[in-house]
Formats: sequence, C-alpha cells, structure tokens
Amino acid sequence: MALVVTKFGGSSVGSTERIMNVARRLVARKEAGDSVVAVLSAMGDVTDELVSLAAAISDDPPEREMDMLLATGEQVSIALLAMAIHALGHDAVSFTGAQVGIVTDPTHTKAKITEVRADRVREALAQGKIVIAAGFQGMTPDGTITTLGRGGSDTTAVAIAAGVDADVCEIFTDVDGVYSADPRICPAARKIDVISYDEMLEMAASGAGVLQLRSVEFARSHGVVIHCRSSFNDRLGTIVKEADDTMEQAIISGVTHDTSEAKITIRDVPDQPGVAADVFTRMAEANVNVDMIIQNVSEDGTTDISFTSPKTDLPRARPAVEAVVRDLGARDSSIDESIAKVSLVGAGMKTHPGVAAQMFRCLAEAGVNIDMISTSSIRISCVVEGDKVEAAVRALHTSFGLDSDAVIAEVAPGWGEE
Ligand code: ASP
Ligand code: MG
Repeated sequence: MALVVTKFGGSSVGSTERIMNVARRLVARKEAGDSVVAVLSAMGDVTDELVSLAAAISDDPPEREMDMLLATGEQVSIALLAMAIHALGHDAVSFTGAQVGIVTDPTHTKAKITEVRADRVREALAQGKIVIAAGFQGMTPDGTITTLGRGGSDTTAVAIAAGVDADVCEIFTDVDGVYSADPRICPAARKIDVISYDEMLEMAASGAGVLQLRSVEFARSHGVVIHCRSSFNDRLGTIVKEADDTMEQAIISGVTHDTSEAKITIRDVPDQPGVAADVFTRMAEANVNVDMIIQNVSEDGTTDISFTSPKTDLPRARPAVEAVVRDLGARDSSIDESIAKVSLVGAGMKTHPGVAAQMFRCLAEAGVNIDMISTSSIRISCVVEGDKVEAAVRALHTSFGLDSDAVIAEVAPGWGEE
C-alpha cells in the first residue's frame, strides 16, 4: 500500500469526460489499496480566460483581487472531480488551498509556500476518503487568498507530497514525460526515463515547460520523488530524483529552448565602478527579472551592457531602462524581442571537456550565429536569432547523439501543458 499524491493539469481535466476519466483512475488506485490525494489545475484554459476577463476591466487590477479571481478556476475542477468520484460510489472530499493548509507569504500572484499544515489531508485519508485539493492557491497566515504563479499546481502537489510524506508525487500531464527536446519541433526527441533534480532544474529553467521550476526546487529540498507521466495512458513516464549510480550516464540529457525572453542593450554607459550595480539595482527595484548579462570591452571610457529579461517584464523594464539612460548619461538603449535561447543540459559536461566547443561548432555548421553565451556547471546556453532556434535544437540534438532510433509516430501534443 502506497501513499500517492497525484496532480492533473488543465488539459487532463479539460472536459467533464476527462474529469470522469481522472475519477476512474483514482478509484482504481484506491481499490488497489493505495491512499490517494489528487491536486488539480483549473479546467482547460480557464485560468487564461479569467486573466482576459480581468484585462477587459483594468490594465492594472489590484493583485489581491487577481488572486481572488484566479483561485476560482481550481475550485470548479475539484468540486466536479469529487462529484465524479461520488458518482462512482466512492468517498471523496475536495479542499481549497487554504483548507488543505497551504500557507504562503503575501506576494500576490507569485506567492511562496512557507508551510504545509497537512492535518486535514491526513485525517480525511485516515477516514478512507480520496482527497482532492485545489492546486495553485494558498493563503497567508491571516487568511488572504494567494496564488503561486502560473503552473503553480505542480508546486502544490509536491508541497502536499512533502507534507504527508508521500511515497511519490505523480504529475499527470498531456505528454508522456520529460523529453530530450520539445517533440513539437524535434520529432527525434526521446522520453527520458530517469533524471536528477539538478538536471531537471536546469531543463525547467531553460525552457522545458513540463514541470514548474519551483516544484522541482521544492522536490529537491524536501526529497520528494516526482513521476511525470501521461494522463492519457498507463505508460511509465520520467522519474525525477536525487542522482545515483543507477542512472544512465549520458553526457547530455537534453536540449531546451526558450523564446520568452527579450534582449535589452544600453549603449555607451560610463565605464566606472558602481555603474553595473546601479543598472541592475534599478531593474530589481522595477521587479524586472534578469537572466543573461554581458558587458562589452570598454573603449574610450564607455561600455555597452546587454541583458535578457522575460518579455512579460518589458512593460516595467522599458521605463526603467529609459531612466537609466537619462540618469547615467548613456547614449541610448534598444530592445530586441526576436531573440531565442537554446541550451544544452547534462551532468556529464562537468567531467567531459569539449562540450562547449562541439556546441559552438554545431551551431556554426547549422548557420546559426551566437549572440550571447552563459554557462552553469551542467548547462550551456546561447542566445541566437529567434527564427533559427528550431533548427539549432534539431542540429544539437543530432550532434550530441540524442536522436531516438524511432521517430515518435504520433507527435505528442505538446511539451507540457504550460
Ligand atoms: N491553473 C493555473 C495555471 O493555469 C495553475 C496550473 O495550471 O498549474 O497557471
Ligand atoms: Mg502545468
């Protein structure tokens, strides 16, 4: 008998038929003797629709009210699933994030979980119920509703798994697991059977949409084993866990890409101590996330600084950059939204020299120009022209021997739900 926390994403509960399928799956699990918790996302595109409703009312809705609105999506899916399980003759109870004891800090729309008070879940499980929890939402210690950021249900599931000390956290999604590249653009991509937390973190941070980054961070710090698998079949998916000797020692595990960032350049900034500190302090104050940074060699006492930021941060970045230009006496600034980032991730690159050289050679041979480079001990990322990124992914996937022998017959519908 195992204690399993499962999570079903928006497309897995996208219709009442699909909710019935999830109910049947959970009941089968229960009948097999397991204790079962299910964490749900909102149905289909409901969260996006709620975001549009708010946008139709206001450019800048109060974040507290945004969370109040967004949290309704998950309440619909959990209630329907509980009804579906009752209709199958089994006992289930649904809980909101607050009821299930997800306590967060007060940062609306991207709150962080500070505590999980899982007593209520444990009690309901002890009564033999299937427990259904709303993903993506929590409450502050004083009872205000918060949400955890888009894709946050993954994090709810991992947090509850940690809170009840589950044997595994199964994340059901619309793809068979974590792939060595996005199967939509790289048909030779392979499903990865087992991957370490560290590699999964780098993959999630560099564009693999299948698991929310924060959920992997949470899993790593609490030792929760994640099984990421399809909600449409029974095949084993990808296990994410601490690295050990049983794992396949591939040099490179995956090639990811990300088209969500823009490149900002500030030209002819005075080259003197404190200037970079000033520029990035202002970005931080404007709540602009910064990813890659390069500063050019200084000529005649000035330099150019370029960095990448999420396109969604541009409304805040634009005025902040204009203020920097004005206040620091820089020449001008520009924003390029047509860039993309391609990354190689693999724990083996720590011990295998030459990976960077092979990556750059491969991109050159594919006619892809490299604009910026950044590395971690197990990742190399290059900023390239946006319209070349798909070709770059395919070329790197082949070059590093990742292509599967069998091209996936039926290309998976996506790279993950979000
Ligand atoms: N429903 C939320 C979203 O669409 C949370 C989730 O699906 O994980 O972002
Ligand atoms: Mg998701």
